[in-house]
Amino acid sequence: MELKQSDLLECPLCSISFSVNNTIIAAGRKFYHCNNCDLIFTDKDFIPSPEKEKKRYDHHQYTIDDTAYLQFLIQAIAPALDFYKYIVFRLRLRLR
Ligand SMILES: [Zn+2]
Repeated sequence: MELKQSDLLECPLCSISFSVNNTIIAAGRKFYHCNNCDLIFTDKDFIPSPEKEKKRYDHHQYTIDDTAYLQFLIQAIAPALDFYKYIVFRLRLRLR
């Protein structure tokens, strides 16, 4: 099968071109997975405009009393902690 140029997408992290067949649909958004660096990124159609993005950020209070913001942080940080523990474990194995 020959891919047309329009069927290829460039990874924003490693700049490798890959087939747009690597799509994931989740939470109502389209995501792409780069097989080279494993980055998962959203389709440009789902990236908000700078004005919409600022409006959303201005809505948050970013204080310890903002429970919605704290929930958002926990949702983002908790899964990453397990990943970091795994990375630290692997790095310690290399130091032996
Ligand atoms: Zn990549």
